[in-house]
Amino acid sequence: MKKSNSSSLKIHVYPAPILKKKAKSLRFIGDEERKLFDAMIELMQQAGGVGLAANQVGLDKQMLVIDIGTGPIKIANPKITKRSGRKAMEEGCLSLPEIIVKVKRAEHVVVKGINEQNVEIKFDAHNLLARVFQHELDHLKGKLIIDYAPWYRKILLQKKFALSSKEKKK
Ligand code: ZN
Repeated sequence: MKKSNSSSLKIHVYPAPILKKKAKSLRFIGDEERKLFDAMIELMQQAGGVGLAANQVGLDKQMLVIDIGTGPIKIANPKITKRSGRKAMEEGCLSLPEIIVKVKRAEHVVVKGINEQNVEIKFDAHNLLARVFQHELDHLKGKLIIDYAPWYRKILLQKKFALSSKEKKK
């Protein structure tokens, strides 16, 4: 588990209970949230991820950071207001190390939310960016890629992670 130098944030791994919880929406973005956005971006980059949700770092807040190589996106209280197309693709997750699950998602989504200055923002996202938005928005609803796996694989994965979390506690 990697730790950021500038903060004590760490990425929580399944089956951490916070990952199954619906995150709380924010009324206002203040200095605390602005610092958190920056720390989340740093952590995401260190971990080699393309997106990170606040509940993945143990915080009950509707906040996401995304960077698919076109510059960092910071968004709070995100909502999908439009979706179209459908495509299945394999996905990984920083909270489910070494696991790949095929997930069907919309190819195009419109996402609305607020930025770190409390200004409303909107993204017209296609392909990879649309996929990452949907993956991260799932996190804020307590949903993980493991929930898209066929039931028999889900049972195997749950066992695997339950075992590895027991071993870490020893
Ligand atoms: Zn994830």
